Amino acid sequence: MITPHRNGPVEETAWPGPRPSLCSLLKWMASDTYHWLRDGYGQHAPPPGEETFTDVHIRHLRQAMGSRLKIIQFTKRQETLNGADWELWIHNQTHGIGLRIQAKKQDRRGQYGFWYWPKGSPALQCDMLIHHALATQCVPVYLLYNYRQPWPIDQGWASVLCGHTAPDRSHYGCSLLSAFHVQASLFRFVIGFDVHDNYRQISHQRLRGLSAPWNQVLCDLQTSKEKRRSRGVAVLTDIQKRAETLERSGLAALGHVDTEGFPTPSHVRRSRHGRDVPDLRTRLGETPTEQPSEVALKPLPERVLRLLEADPARPPEQEIPTRAVVLYDVTDAGELAAQPGQA
Ligand SMILES: [Zn+2]
Repeated sequence: MITPHRNGPVEETAWPGPRPSLCSLLKWMASDTYHWLRDGYGQHAPPPGEETFTDVHIRHLRQAMGSRLKIIQFTKRQETLNGADWELWIHNQTHGIGLRIQAKKQDRRGQYGFWYWPKGSPALQCDMLIHHALATQCVPVYLLYNYRQPWPIDQGWASVLCGHTAPDRSHYGCSLLSAFHVQASLFRFVIGFDVHDNYRQISHQRLRGLSAPWNQVLCDLQTSKEKRRSRGVAVLTDIQKRAETLERSGLAALGHVDTEGFPTPSHVRRSRHGRDVPDLRTRLGETPTEQPSEVALKPLPERVLRLLEADPARPPEQEIPTRAVVLYDVTDAGELAAQPGQA
């Protein structure tokens, strides 16, 4: 049950209880993240790191979702090869949508480490995230961990999101941002700069404002009884529609950037030092079309079908590894009762 209760001056969101919807669980996790970060920047310093949040989020998903969820965690050796934190697939056993997720924590100044070139990496983390997402047929996203004042959601965005919110607005604690918005900003930043190696030209507040609470993007609660018989097709369609809206907005931003002919911000940066960057997949130059009236569900890639069958203790080696792949099956989501306050 989502029961707002008084705990000191803060109204908190309670643990959603047995058999929660993905929406109510993600909402609780966002709320927990929001308060945990606020405490960490306040009276209970220091705040936890991104890896801690990822581990705790995976634990909560595992704990709450039971057989609807399969989690495959990979070894440290594999994770060092790659930037993305985890992959989330929401599926109905045959079709589904995948997100490749990079977590970013809001720092004391309200900024996120978007301009980040990991040691030993051939490119910026953002460019690698997009490159790997395209190779794994995923939507590349940043998962922002926020603790400051919520922001107004753009009207076009708001119209497709679900209306399930926390009473104290702490569901803004975890929000999803298209990596293409970040890539567009990094292009502007790196093309505009010469000697000032700082974040001043990246508007962190603007980027955060283009993100949306993750539970409202990935909501799996449905209203019509008729829809419930369809093996999660209605739920999946809604989630895919929201993920595509997220991506289209990022691609539109990328389309407005003068990239001076460079394929990625990493290439701009390295060219200043006369150095090369390997070929990276990019969606630069792809003009997003209008929202199609019908959403066509996508068949799950072979790799994901194999993971669905795999023994989690002995998962098949991943060509493009990640820390964890989380597979959420929506086929019986229709049995979930809407929580109080989630009409
Ligand atoms: Zn919802």
